[in-house]
Amino acid sequence: MIIQMKKQASKKEYRRITDFLKEQSFEVKDVSSEEIMVFGIIGDTSRIDPHDLYAFDGVAQVTRVSTPFKKASRSFKPTDTIVRLDRGIEIGGTAFVTMAGPCSVESEEQLRTIARGVKKAGASILRGGAYKPRTSPYSFQGMGVEGLKLLRKVGDEFDLAVVTEIPSPDLIPLFEEYVDLIQVGARNMQNFHLLKALGKSKTPILLKRGLSATIEEWLMSAEYIMAGGNENVVLCERGIRTYEKYTRNTLDISSVLAVQELSHLPVIVDPSHAAGRWNMIEKLALATLAVGAHGMIVEVHHDPEHALSDGAQSLKIPKFKQMMTELDKLADVLGKTKR
Ligand code: PEP
Ligand code: MN
Repeated sequence: MIIQMKKQASKKEYRRITDFLKEQSFEVKDVSSEEIMVFGIIGDTSRIDPHDLYAFDGVAQVTRVSTPFKKASRSFKPTDTIVRLDRGIEIGGTAFVTMAGPCSVESEEQLRTIARGVKKAGASILRGGAYKPRTSPYSFQGMGVEGLKLLRKVGDEFDLAVVTEIPSPDLIPLFEEYVDLIQVGARNMQNFHLLKALGKSKTPILLKRGLSATIEEWLMSAEYIMAGGNENVVLCERGIRTYEKYTRNTLDISSVLAVQELSHLPVIVDPSHAAGRWNMIEKLALATLAVGAHGMIVEVHHDPEHALSDGAQSLKIPKFKQMMTELDKLADVLGKTKR
């Protein structure tokens, strides 16, 4: 971290902040010139919020040189992390993993029909919300624990691992019992109480990017989970809120590349919640594979017109199959394996 003092700052002001940092066990390296006082601090600067240092009189500019996250950082661990689930599923590395299923679990028949379809088309993980974070309290809120049990039952029937969203820390033991990958939804990305509790779990976590989160904030949320001891975190880009209204969100495809530079954690893409429109999903999925993401999570429904949530962005099963065939062709060209 580099701290530049204001031109008119006094020696006393310089001493006050440097003494404070030395007391915190940081090494202070002075690089001042005739015109301006500047110093660098060496040590574990992830402990400091740069904004706090503006509380000191005379500070003009605080610049972070290293990232505020450690365990999630590629400089901390240069090799790619591979998150392993039962059934030999690996997220990370060279394979491209497909998670697919309905937005919400609605009934056993619905889930079975969709699971059969996505399995046949080549998906390896079944998605389905049991506790739904809806904008309106009057919208379908999910089947709750019955939904979790159905996911496990139908997932096992078709040899699919299962992923679903957790709403609160008290449900962790239940999720650990029924789920292979626990999803933290966009709206909960900065629910630090939930993230800390998940840090104590041994079940891998799928951490979606918050609606308006920067890449750094997203990685800091991963850091919360990892700091607690759970290092099996998969990141998921799902579109961010911008001024554009034509699509539901704006897919930040370059965030995949940014995350891969900054972190060793695997990163997948959710084109469904990004676009919000089924007719855009195939092309965005191809872009997801082309950009080098480790997989995708896609909403599929056998009867989207009557889906209890997110029908407009759900692919019908034949369309999903067709998309998987297109992805196979691109995977061949790119020399990737699809799972
Ligand atoms: C979902 O996966 O159904 C969902 C609600 O996603 P997000 O948290 O990205 O909005
Ligand atoms: Mn959804």
